[in-house]
Amino acid sequence: ALTLGVMGGGQLGRMFVHAAQQLGFRTAVLDPDATSPAGLVAHAHVQAEYLDEAGLQALADTADAITTEFENVPAEALRRLAERRPVAPSGDAVAVCQDRAAEKAHFVDCGVPVAPHAVIADEAALAAVPDDLLPGILKTARMGYDGKGQIRVADRAALEAGWAELGRVTCVLEKRLPLAFEVSVIVARGRDGRVVAFPLQQNLHRDGILAVTTVPAPAGTPALEAEAIGCAARIAADLGYVGVLCIEFFILEDGSLVANEMAPRPHNSGHHTIDSCDLSQFDLQVRAMAGLPLAKPRLHSPTVMLNLLGDLWFDAAGQERTPDWAAVLALPGANLHLYGKESARRGRKMGHLTITGATPAAARETALQAAALLGIEPF
Ligand code: ATP
Ligand code: MG
Ligand code: MG
Repeated sequence: ALTLGVMGGGQLGRMFVHAAQQLGFRTAVLDPDATSPAGLVAHAHVQAEYLDEAGLQALADTADAITTEFENVPAEALRRLAERRPVAPSGDAVAVCQDRAAEKAHFVDCGVPVAPHAVIADEAALAAVPDDLLPGILKTARMGYDGKGQIRVADRAALEAGWAELGRVTCVLEKRLPLAFEVSVIVARGRDGRVVAFPLQQNLHRDGILAVTTVPAPAGTPALEAEAIGCAARIAADLGYVGVLCIEFFILEDGSLVANEMAPRPHNSGHHTIDSCDLSQFDLQVRAMAGLPLAKPRLHSPTVMLNLLGDLWFDAAGQERTPDWAAVLALPGANLHLYGKESARRGRKMGHLTITGATPAAARETALQAAALLGIEPF
């Protein structure tokens, strides 16, 4: 059997490994952590830093094709692996996704609207920021996730203090937009250029972290879905992208669509596809890598996905506890996914709960019951 390799051993890698194993593939994971969620379930685990030459060679020795599950895996590591094996997505495509300034420039090149913004790389650029970008959100150009590396800035004084607080690294200042709601779209693109898309998903974030995803998107329309998928397909094609790609969008109060950012991999907002669709985002990532046909996925059940953060593992007094899974699993349509992480921390993604239903209202109703049982704020 072919062996599929993954850079990164987190939960995305773990779910990729599960999908690869379903098709009889062997799997190899490179991750520095001996107890990474994906390393624990893969056939082979190369325990090494991402740029470690011996580790990269060991992965290339074992794997016939290689992908990444970790947004910030050094693009250079992917380029080195590509000298020996097919790598998807490419280091060049991942490099664009890793840099907010390059990412926004790429969206604009593809005719996809973005938030008004300025790149702040030095004092001169800071001084030249136009007033109409404030109030804004200052974001480090690289390495941010889950709202980390971001500061809301109301005025120039806050902007200057915020840039200092972020270490004066290259940042993007975005105008704070009036969001009506947020959506994401996940596409998969094959080596032959064929693109298939999952339905539009509506996302609720809390404290900068995805909390709830609902599909079909309650506030979506067929026209909005077609527009988002069209944007994603153009963005992928222009990058020569191979594999699964997620684009996050803001829908503004006037109904217009603005691209926020993209992730060069399966995405948290698509985890429900394992249970709600006939093909999951991980199935399509496996197919894209192995050069197998990308069939169009079909949503067979309306669904709500709840992210399970480490906070749920602590009671009001701060004592560690295990959430009452038995109560949750008694609910109809509940599919619990736990990532096998050894210790819970606040804000850490420990698992997700997918609730499917016969109708959107039924899925939502059950998801609200699950949220109440777990101590997740209603949505
Ligand atoms: P992720 O974990 O999705 O990669 P991230 O740290 O890269 O998150 P963003 O997606 O840029 O962060 O922003 C996080 C959230 O902050 C958004 O989903 C949105 O709710 C809010 N937000 C970000 N930028 C803006 C903006 N320009 N105007 C209004 N709200 C914003
Ligand atoms: Mg991000
Ligand atoms: Mg985001």
